Amino acid sequence: MFDVLIVGGGPAGTATALRVLAERPGASVAIVDAQPFPRDKACGDGIAPHGLDVLRELGIPDAAAGYAPVDRMRLRTPGGAEVATPAARANYVVPRQVFDDRLMTAALARGARLLRRRVRSIAMPSGPGDPVIVDGELRARVLVGADGANSMVRRALGIPPNPPTAMAIAVRGYADAPRADRPPEQFIHMVDRGWPAYAWSFPIGDGRANIGYGTLRSQLGGVGGGGEPADPAGPASGKAALYGTLAELLPDQPAHPGTLRAHHLPLSTWRPRQPDGPVLLVGDAASLINPLTGEGIYYALLSGSLAGHAAVTAPADPGAAYRAALHGELGRHLRHTSLLAGLAGRHRPLMDAAIQAAAQRTELYDQLVEIGLGRGTIPAGALARLVWRRLTRAGGTGPGRSGRADHPRQ
Ligand SMILES: Cc1cc2nc3c(=O)[nH]c(=O)nc-3n(C[C@H](O)[C@H](O)[C@H](O)COP(=O)(O)OP(=O)(O)OC[C@H]3O[C@@H](n4cnc5c(N)ncnc54)[C@H](O)[C@@H]3O)c2cc1C
Repeated sequence: MFDVLIVGGGPAGTATALRVLAERPGASVAIVDAQPFPRDKACGDGIAPHGLDVLRELGIPDAAAGYAPVDRMRLRTPGGAEVATPAARANYVVPRQVFDDRLMTAALARGARLLRRRVRSIAMPSGPGDPVIVDGELRARVLVGADGANSMVRRALGIPPNPPTAMAIAVRGYADAPRADRPPEQFIHMVDRGWPAYAWSFPIGDGRANIGYGTLRSQLGGVGGGGEPADPAGPASGKAALYGTLAELLPDQPAHPGTLRAHHLPLSTWRPRQPDGPVLLVGDAASLINPLTGEGIYYALLSGSLAGHAAVTAPADPGAAYRAALHGELGRHLRHTSLLAGLAGRHRPLMDAAIQAAAQRTELYDQLVEIGLGRGTIPAGALARLVWRRLTRAGGTGPGRSGRADHPRQ
């Protein structure tokens, strides 16, 4: 009988374990994962500083050690607007094979156990106080589903996967980093093809860059995949469309052989309601991915930490306690990102207007970054100005009108 059994050893799962063991060092905690560690995970490897804050609070100050901070982000829209202001806080690019293994190593050092198996069945408790039973033999007071985009824990709760309009799919590869003729920067190139969609190139600092392209599943037909289902494990044509598009969008950075991998991103525009009781969903299993950027690591770490706290402090109903905590931390932010994603998806020029405005005003740029990478919300005034600008087609001249700005922070 485990106090807390966690299915999935990604950032959401290890953060859960770290929080439980920080608050109750003697607790019996097991992480079950289908893969041996270290393991790769298809991802942009972009680690927002907000995620590192959560880890610092969990006593892990060095998750990005050895990787240089990347403080510049270049955002380009399909309409040609561009901003490349240094961000208020630097991001890191740490291959998930390294990052996740560091977190797993820390969780094991604090007393968690790692069990290698693919979980196939979950029996829910038949009454209050009964354990959850996994694969007919592992018993747990609290079960945490940290098993990612195709979560079986979520399916066992009777919750369906996200619809195609709230499910992104992206391909990731590794390539040579661009020539170092300017400071390293994370490049995000939003494109019309498959809108809302973007290609990225994130320098790792070792001569390589993580490259990729992602779009909504519902838009995959427009990418050139002929509307084929885009199950990464399924028919090849959806994947082929993604691979081909990436190669076209980043022609100077061909992917190194064998590094291309596709995976789903369940976006937070369609989140399941966390049920009461002893089964908690965290990270991608809870559809916690920012619909504007595809960032999910910060949410995974935060939700895991909140779930770990609820598991320890609210044994009678951890589900209800965790639901309330998540709502308190992220509720407003998630509503605002959903609103923005809906607007941008339907009116692509809004994104041009937002990036043009951000190119002119550093504080607006910072707010956009907070919304895309952290838990920022839309300032009422900025939203009104954006809408007004769009409706009247008014706006300033100078760098904003030309849509390009590449300047230091004021
Ligand atoms: C191409 C791509 C690019 C992305 N880029 C970024 C980025 O740059 N920055 C960012 O913040 N986010 C990014 N994301 C999102 C990010 O990868 C996820 O949000 C993050 O990995 C979620 O962490 P997690 O712990 O919830 O799940 P995961 O990291 O997916 O971990 C789930 C774990 O569960 C295990 N598992 C699954 N099923 C079972 C089972 N039945 N039994 C046992 N174990 C099981 C898996 O083996 C895996 O180890 C990207 C996603 C994709 C697909």
